Order: sequence, then C-alpha cells, then structure tokens
Amino acid sequence: MDKVAPKQADVFQANRDRVAPLLKKLRGDGIGHMIDGKIVPSVSGQTFETNSPVDGSVLASVARGNAEDIDRAATAASLAFKSWRDMAPAMRRKLLHRVADAIEDNADDIAVLECIDTGQAHRFMAKAAIRAAENFRFFADKCAEARDGLNTPSEEHWNISTRVPIGPVGVITPWNTPFMLSTWKIAPALAAGCTVVHKPAEWSPVTADMLARLCKQAGLPDGVLNTVHGLGEEAGKALTEHPAIKAIGFVGESATGSAIMAQGSKTLKRVHFELGGKNPVIVFDDADLDRALDAVVFMIYSLNGERCTSSSRLLVQQSIADKFIEKLTARVQKLKVGHPLDPATEVGPLIHERHLAKVCSYFDVAKKDGATIAVGGKPHDGPGGGHYVQPTLVTNASSRMRVAQEEVFGPFLTVIPFRDEADAIEIANGVQYGLTGYVWTGDMGRALRVADALEAGMIWLNSENVRHLPTPFGGMKASGIGRDGGDYSFDFYMETKHVSLARGTHKIQKLGM
Ligand code: NAD
Repeated sequence: MDKVAPKQADVFQANRDRVAPLLKKLRGDGIGHMIDGKIVPSVSGQTFETNSPVDGSVLASVARGNAEDIDRAATAASLAFKSWRDMAPAMRRKLLHRVADAIEDNADDIAVLECIDTGQAHRFMAKAAIRAAENFRFFADKCAEARDGLNTPSEEHWNISTRVPIGPVGVITPWNTPFMLSTWKIAPALAAGCTVVHKPAEWSPVTADMLARLCKQAGLPDGVLNTVHGLGEEAGKALTEHPAIKAIGFVGESATGSAIMAQGSKTLKRVHFELGGKNPVIVFDDADLDRALDAVVFMIYSLNGERCTSSSRLLVQQSIADKFIEKLTARVQKLKVGHPLDPATEVGPLIHERHLAKVCSYFDVAKKDGATIAVGGKPHDGPGGGHYVQPTLVTNASSRMRVAQEEVFGPFLTVIPFRDEADAIEIANGVQYGLTGYVWTGDMGRALRVADALEAGMIWLNSENVRHLPTPFGGMKASGIGRDGGDYSFDFYMETKHVSLARGTHKIQKLGM
C-alpha cells in the first residue's frame, strides 16, 4: 500500500511536541562549557541569555566565558593532544564514526532545537544534522591518509614529505547554520589528530552544547573537544590570543576576520577564514530559464538568506530582464513566511532583533540610492511576533549602489541588468567579495570563459550550490583565506614535514681541512 504523507499540520504539531520537553530541560539545566570532558560554569560565574527569534522567549542561561575559561580549555586541549595525535588512525576513525552515529540518533532533536534557536525553517534544518554526521563519516574515513605525503626523489636523495597535526586548534563559528557548519571545521581537525577548543556564536549556543555532549557520549576522550561559550570580544578574542592554540579556523564576517588576524599576530597564529559574500548569479538569455529561476529563488530565499554562499545579486541579460523579473516577482510574492517548525514555512524569523534591524535598514538604503523595492521591504507580522521580515526584491539597481555592494545577509535580492558577457563579468567582479559565482547559459564555451574570469573561490555552472565534500570550499578577496574540504582541510590542520634520506653517494664539502 502507498504510504500517505503526513499532513503538514500534523508534522508542525509533532515538531512542537518534540521541542517542548527539550526546551524544558534546557531552561532547567542551562548551558555550561565543556572543558576536559566536564560541563562546568564560567570561573567568573557570569552568564548570558539566549532567546528564541520566534517570540523572544529565553531558551537558556548560558555560561559566559572569558580568558580564564579559555585558558582552562586550551590547557585541557594541550594535555589531550599527545595521546590523540598518537592514537592509531583506525581507533580515531572508529570514534569519529561513533560521533556520527550519535548525531544521527539525535538528528530530529537537533533539527527542532536549531529551528527554535536560529529561526531557520525546519524544511532546511531537517537534514542538517544528517549532513553534519556525513561530515564526521567523511573525515573519519580519511584519518589514515591524513599523514600521507610524497616522495620526490632527486639524484642522490629520497625526499619524503609527511604531515603531522599542528596541535590544539581554535574553531570559531557563526550563527547561521551553526550545527552543520561547526562540523565542517571540527571533524577534519579531529581526523587530522588535532584537539579543539570551539567557541560557538553567542546568538545560537544550543546545538553546540548538544554536539559537545554527543561527542562525550560517543567516547571521545576528555579534552579532545572543548566548547567555551561567550561573546566574541571576550571568549573569542582570548582564544585567538592564547599561546597554546596553534591555529584558528574561523567562519564569520570579513571585519571579524581582520580583527582575528591582528589579535593572533603576536602568537603567530595560522588562520583559515571563511568570510562574507555578495555573490552573483548571472543569467544569460540562452539559459534554461525555468531551472535558472528555481535556482535564483532558492539560493537567496532559502535559509532566510542568512547564507554566505547565497546569490544575493542577480545579474540578468537586458534582452530577457523584463520577462525574467516578472516571473521572479510572482515567485517572491508567494514565498511563505512563518514559524520555523512549520514544514510549510520557506522563510522563518531572522536570528536576532539587531540583525532584523540591519536587514531592514537596507530598505531605506535601496530607496535613497534610487532603486525600486519591487516586493517586500517591510518587517513581517509572523507567528510569535518574532524577527520576521518580508522576502524582498530590489530592481532598477546599478552595480555601484550599496545594495549591490554590501552583504545584507537576509532574504534580500538585488537585480542588476547587463548588456553582454564582458559587462556581466565586470559587474560580477566589481565587489570586494569573491566567495561564489553562479552562471546560467546554454553555451558551454561561454560558461567556461566566464568561470575563468570570475573572481570567486567556487563557481557553479547551470546549478545552484551543491556541496561535495572532497571539493575545495572557500573564497577569494574579502571572502576568505584558505580552503576546506577533502584533503584541503588537512593542509590547514597539519604541518607538512620534509624528510631527506641520503643514498650515501653525494659529496660533502670539506671545510677546515
Ligand atoms: P561574526 O563575525 O559576527 O561572528 C562569528 C563568530 O566570531 C562568533 O562566534 C563571534 O562570537 C566571534 N567573534 C566576534 N568578534 C570576535 C573577535 N574579536 N575575536 C574572536 N572571535 C570573535 O559573524 P556572524 O554575524 O556570526 O555570521 C555571519 C557572517 O558569517 C556573514 O558575514 C557570513 O557571510 C559569514 N559566513 C561565512 C561563511 C563562509 O563559509 N564563507 C559561512 C557562514 C557564514
């Protein structure tokens, strides 16, 4: 018999029922740091509150870490490093697979907590934990090859390279899809043999706490993953300055990346930055316009537009602009804004009132610059009265306007028409960022020419962003330094060591004879 799909209203209720006891526990227990395998309060006893973007309710009281807590965590990570580094790769692999199992077993709980803490819609978060588990499995299976190197023999030597883990590392993450995103960093670091101090974003600490607990439950040795909650300028800054921390993997705003580079300079930190974007999607008149339209809508209005890889600038060829914008307008008008636990919701509330204010400030910026707000342009009165905003479409924009230059990080799309290939490339590259680019055309030659010319770390031709874990993930210009994914991650978390073996045949200069 065919399975009948559950009604959306029933799924919504089931999600609410699932989250209720989890919230009760969270409110009761609060969130502490995980240091050396123990959940502990801050040394100072200070806490801060995390609130739900749905209705502003307090979700938990969270330990507010500072330099003392970071020092305890960095010390624990240092003490755990040697035995984690020297553990047989097969054993490390087994433990990381156990973490993946624990994540999968708790995927539904993680999904609803992430929705309530960040405002992201359940339709996108439902699979986020599963993808996080996949990250752990992918890197677990690479534990053994992490040390691999090359033999580049010369006439009288064998020249062998190998890699060794760099040491305890810091991972600092943002709030947009916090659970999955943090595993992109933490899983390869652990697979490489590094120990980790994680400082999650203060606006979304809930699932980071869950990850720390699941790792402990899965049998990760004490001190291998430590989590310290707190503000960026306190706990985050202290982590970047700590001498025992050898490298910082950071995901967040470009301005914060600059600050971290300065903070880490005294201790010569190695840094890896995944920063902001103002990514173009370029639609030529010979493209499959139906597929292009689907991708354009998806890549800016999914995940509340709070997505570094979102295509927030639509560059559309003048010859098809009117027709394409007409269809786009109709789609944006129909987007469903609602409660994040409702499976029908396409756009949920934004993370925080400060972020809502930032996104809304661009409505005036657009008008002042002379662009047109074709759809949206106001806050939205959604269930719970939270930080909802209308999905917004800005037309009649030109590339020098602020709405075409600055990262809004919300459901906010700016449309800029272009004449021809050269014009499209010039507009696409005319921003400080260079994270992703998306190109839609039926002419493969042109697709390749544009891909070559775009200043971006990742380019998709006739596709939305589809992540494949072995591929390099990262940006150019103000969008980042370094690449994640596959073997690229190990280049960051490990030191490459060169060992030269003489055949005993070469001449050694004799001095002082
Ligand atoms: P943010 O830079 O404000 O904060 C990110 C993290 O840095 C938080 O944990 C914060 O507490 C910490 N932090 C802040 N100041 C610090 C300091 N001085 N020292 C150390 N740590 C500090 O970013 P956000 O608002 O949380 O996230 C949104 C940004 O992240 C957007 O710009 C987005 O494009 C970017 N992002 C990039 C990627 C990518 O892969 N390129 C992915 C997701 C998000």
